[in-house]
Amino acid sequence: MPRRTPPAALNWRRSPKAHSADINAAVAAARAAQPAWEAAGGPARARILYAIARLLQKHARLFAVLETLDNGKPIREARDADIPLAQRHFYYHAGLAQLFPATSRAYGVCGQIIPWNFPLLMLAWKVAPALAAGNTVVLKPAEYTPLTALLFAEVCQQAGVPAGVVNIVTGDGDTGAALVAADVDKIAFTGSTDVGRIIRRATAGTGKALTLELGGKSPFIVFDDADLDSAVEGVVDSIWFNQGQVCCAGSRLLLHEPIADRFILKLKARMATLRMGDPLDKSVDIGAIVHPTQLARIRDMVGANTAGTTHTAPCPLPDGGSFFPPTLITGLSPSDALMQHEIFGPVLVSTTFRTPAEAVELANNTRYGLAASVWSENINTALTIAPQLAAGVIWVNGANMLDAAAPFGGIRESGFGREGGPEGLAAYTRPTEAPAPQRTSPP
Ligand code: NAD
Repeated sequence: MPRRTPPAALNWRRSPKAHSADINAAVAAARAAQPAWEAAGGPARARILYAIARLLQKHARLFAVLETLDNGKPIREARDADIPLAQRHFYYHAGLAQLFPATSRAYGVCGQIIPWNFPLLMLAWKVAPALAAGNTVVLKPAEYTPLTALLFAEVCQQAGVPAGVVNIVTGDGDTGAALVAADVDKIAFTGSTDVGRIIRRATAGTGKALTLELGGKSPFIVFDDADLDSAVEGVVDSIWFNQGQVCCAGSRLLLHEPIADRFILKLKARMATLRMGDPLDKSVDIGAIVHPTQLARIRDMVGANTAGTTHTAPCPLPDGGSFFPPTLITGLSPSDALMQHEIFGPVLVSTTFRTPAEAVELANNTRYGLAASVWSENINTALTIAPQLAAGVIWVNGANMLDAAAPFGGIRESGFGREGGPEGLAAYTRPTEAPAPQRTSPP
């Protein structure tokens, strides 16, 4: 019997790299489609956004499996977080599209560039508000994770999105740079602070609008009156969700001295129960790192650290694949590299504080300002500390809680602009010329 050639599907990890000519063709299609899309009005756009949400819901299992295959995240997270949150974003913006203020108009064509950590969700955060406001889009997913964006393009066709309104181009940083340089009216970027800086320079003086959602090194602050067991679970959600590859991960644990030792003991005990393995296995807590390059980056950063004490979760490393165990490094000082730089992996660093003022000082002692989490059973402590934290998003007794109706975004080197909520829609609109004042007859 002749050997069967492997099916083409085995090449599913290959996607084309778009060059300038492809980008320009996509931008031209978006440009041609934009006036009619905007003129269709909020209610018509709402119907289509709603249809997209329904289809994401209908195909949720397929999207979840594809996301896990592409990214390595546990299927439980793709199924329970990524895909439902993406659906919710489209439902929410179907509602907002109908409330679209008459005093605003769309930018026109938006170039959108997203990272690999939440591929479909980051797409939803970009595409839903842009379409709701009457823009058309050219979106580039990250080179490691293009699959759900490509399936999303099919969903758009099924939902009746007119040709040219949503364009997906695949490729790496070169493709992203070509999109930034193309004839677009706005660039919306989510990714690293370094690339955000490049894009800011490239768009300066061009008249293109820009929003940047960048990196973070978010503090997770536990006071001595916190519910420690809940806070331990919060840490697990905060830094080991998606293998720590989360922009708002609580990657710096700041512990009030009186409870620090007890908390670390509890945390180590919890780490011993984490299961790492095949991301498609529903009982797995910790999946694979997205790519060997990212794994090497995490290893290098942790390996270069000579300070502190490292504790590694005792879960066996699966054979093959890109795995890095949940790791806790205690006893670092605030200026140590691992306390300052985003690792973007399952690595938590910790230190202690004596007073609330010291907690605030430590929390704000990075160049970032994306998120922060405060744990205390005393509402006065929480409400006094929260406003002093330099972060765009602050959670009290919780972490990584995301909702389509709540604006998300950073300050300082975590970027500017908001995604979600009315503020996120506003970031895709510009004011129209002031309407002529209404004449009213005197009573
Ligand atoms: P990255 O900056 O390397 O890449 C992000 C995207 O930009 C990819 O699509 C990539 O192809 C593209 N790109 C790379 N070079 C480019 C260039 N010169 N011009 C235009 N596009 C270019 O980031 P990453 O490694 O994919 O993602 C991880 C980073 O994203 C982390 O720093 C994380 O904190 C951040 N992030 C932030 C948020 C947020 O909302 N603030 C959300 C998710 C991830």
